[in-house]
Amino acid sequence: MAWFKREKKPIEQSTPPEERRVRTEGLWTKCESCRTIVFRKDLEENLHVCPKCQFHFKMSAKQRLEMLLDGRYTEHDAGMTSTDPLKFTDTKPYAARLKEARRKLGMNDAVITAEGQLNGRPVVCCAMEFGFIGGSMGAVVGEKVTRGVELALETAQPLIVVSCSGGARMMEGTISLMQLAKVSAALARLDDAKIPYISVLTDPTTGGVTASFAMLGDLNIAEPGALIGFAGPRVIEQTIRQKLPEGFQRAEFLITKGAVDMIVDRRKMREELARLLALLQNQAAEVLA
Ligand SMILES: [Zn+2]
Repeated sequence: MAWFKREKKPIEQSTPPEERRVRTEGLWTKCESCRTIVFRKDLEENLHVCPKCQFHFKMSAKQRLEMLLDGRYTEHDAGMTSTDPLKFTDTKPYAARLKEARRKLGMNDAVITAEGQLNGRPVVCCAMEFGFIGGSMGAVVGEKVTRGVELALETAQPLIVVSCSGGARMMEGTISLMQLAKVSAALARLDDAKIPYISVLTDPTTGGVTASFAMLGDLNIAEPGALIGFAGPRVIEQTIRQKLPEGFQRAEFLITKGAVDMIVDRRKMREELARLLALLQNQAAEVLA
């Protein structure tokens, strides 16, 4: 027998080959803005704001509600689902898109309506979920936001809507466009009753959502760097055949034009909302007195 022949059995591989790599995936993430590699846990602790350049990452609707509200909240209309009225198909059937989004996110459509407390103050808060078909507004989002407005109206609680949306959901055609009028009409009733409504605009807030409830707040507050607009910059450039200015449609540009009232860092958002709600509610009480 040759001296170099292996006589002992090789060490048995108990882990299957597909699991034989170091599990670091998902622990780190790259900042979209400054390209710094950030430890995901640090990012979460910093409310999904890059510790180096203050870039505001997207947040899910659930994370948003956890950040803004004091602990537990009651969810409303969670079971509402789209009926796919047009039986719409593009690159794949709308019904299949809905099914996939529901499975992936564990929610039925692109908004959560919550009733809870913000810094001890009872509020109704709707938070949009961009991960659900681009946070688009179809019949369900429109109806849920409208019911959120009506709940605020019935219970005399202030309303906060956190928008994050690509606009109306075109797979529902005209029905999605009708939501603009419906939500806006409900908000007019809320305004008549002098109940405060604060709209929080996050990256991105565009299309039919901008053209309705996102811009109808008593105060419209944007997060830093948020893209806010109706049509996207590319479409506008092609239409007017002109180069758009630097930073066009970003919160910092819009505030100089008076299109948004404030830009608030996410880490200060909760206390700022509490302060503003107190201010608005006192003012409303004086008007009604
Ligand atoms: Zn960064």
